[in-house]
Amino acid sequence: MELYRLTAHEARDLLRKGEITAVELTEAVLRRIEAVEPQVRAYITVSPDTALAQAAAADQRLSAARRSGEVDTLPPLLGIPIAVKDVISTRGLRTTCGSRMLERYIPPYDATVVRRLRAQGAVIVGKTNTDEFAMGWSTENSAFGPSRNPWDITRVPGGSSGGSAAALAADEALIALGSDTGGSVRQPAAFCNLVGLRPTYGRVSRYGLVAFASSLDQIGPMAKDVLDCALLYEVIAGHDPHDSTSIAQPVEPVLPALNGDIRGVRIGVPREYFGEGIHAGVAEVVRRAIAQLESLGAHVEEITLPLTRHSIPVYYLIATAEASANLARYDGVRYGHSATATTIWEHFTRTRGEGFGPEVKRRIILGTYALSAGYYEAYYLRAQKVRTLIRREFEQAFERVDIIAGPVAPVLPWPIGWVMENPVQAYLTDLLTVSQAIAGIPALSVPAGFHEGLPVGLQLVGRPLDEVTLFRVAYALEQVTEWHRQRPTQ
Ligand code: GLN
Repeated sequence: MELYRLTAHEARDLLRKGEITAVELTEAVLRRIEAVEPQVRAYITVSPDTALAQAAAADQRLSAARRSGEVDTLPPLLGIPIAVKDVISTRGLRTTCGSRMLERYIPPYDATVVRRLRAQGAVIVGKTNTDEFAMGWSTENSAFGPSRNPWDITRVPGGSSGGSAAALAADEALIALGSDTGGSVRQPAAFCNLVGLRPTYGRVSRYGLVAFASSLDQIGPMAKDVLDCALLYEVIAGHDPHDSTSIAQPVEPVLPALNGDIRGVRIGVPREYFGEGIHAGVAEVVRRAIAQLESLGAHVEEITLPLTRHSIPVYYLIATAEASANLARYDGVRYGHSATATTIWEHFTRTRGEGFGPEVKRRIILGTYALSAGYYEAYYLRAQKVRTLIRREFEQAFERVDIIAGPVAPVLPWPIGWVMENPVQAYLTDLLTVSQAIAGIPALSVPAGFHEGLPVGLQLVGRPLDEVTLFRVAYALEQVTEWHRQRPTQ
């Protein structure tokens, strides 16, 4: 078997036994990148030299531990090649956010998640493509051009963490980090037959994540199977004094819960998640996956979440308002793109005019409008009130059920170019992933099957800080299905 096809846990076992080295594994992944990148375009920056140096350091740790008989105490991601979405700061490694604005920006510090990965000895292969500042659905809004879906090269891999998803589906990394403000980990995971988790808001530090909408942004793990996703989650989750919204509670261990037993788990299936606008093929695949969970002993019942239909306007008011404030810092004075001009105002105008793409500009304009005097109460404040109602609606649902299940995206991966022609329709495809972000609750995407050769994801939504139940149910499904083992022919 080609080494780049391994999951992280398979590679971990072989590394510990000394059957492969981290350098061999990293070289295999780098060769794979060279072979498929011309078609897939998952990465904005690949960093072979630093990756190989990290792999060599990992090999030293591995052989020292083997000599002293202590391999079992080594960190699980030691020597494992990982891809990092290009909105997460990496010291010394360019971090563009998919934007001309930061085309040459090299962060002077690591995000907390990256620091933790480096401490484990994980091998950072490169930075993956993203919609500009994570605003989008498909990587079509990236200033560096779209990534392709390895399942069908003419289609999008989803977004905004589409580069990470494409990299995993094409075996250009073993695991990956994404970020999810309103679906950006879950939707590309679903489009590329992967597992992806949006953790509870505050469970994973946002320190070093370039801000899009601060009350919604979360970093999340993406992987080829549930166990890998859990391993990465356990590394990045936990309190961080650098992020004031980070939760100071211990992280419940996931691995002991992965035993395949889900008898008695109560699963709510919202009627609204199968209503108007949901592709019939997607609905059918997801219903079949839920029936499989039922056959494993889960109790499935229909529930209703009527506020779902308000989640898109609420999300796009809050997200654009926060984005307009967060992106004010790109003024060409402190860092990032800086235009030449004769007056200070011309300098600001040109810098931002040249540096930002059309979707980012659209959102800054919308958000600035929603926050302006006279409109604030009518838009932003009202959206915050509905946000509270959406959160309560979930709380009430979780009095009856343990998790909520449905599709991740209402549609299949679309042909490249569609977003550019239908920017406003694209907003509607966020229907099933924004309400969990609004409520701050965890949600996981797991492969559910295929429709016409394209992957479909099942979404599992849980109570705050109950990531463990999501992993447990997803793992049980994985044990009785083979979807996650299917690879694109690419
Ligand atoms: N598609 C949503 C948006 O465009 C979510 C993006 C994200 O989660 N970063 O805002």
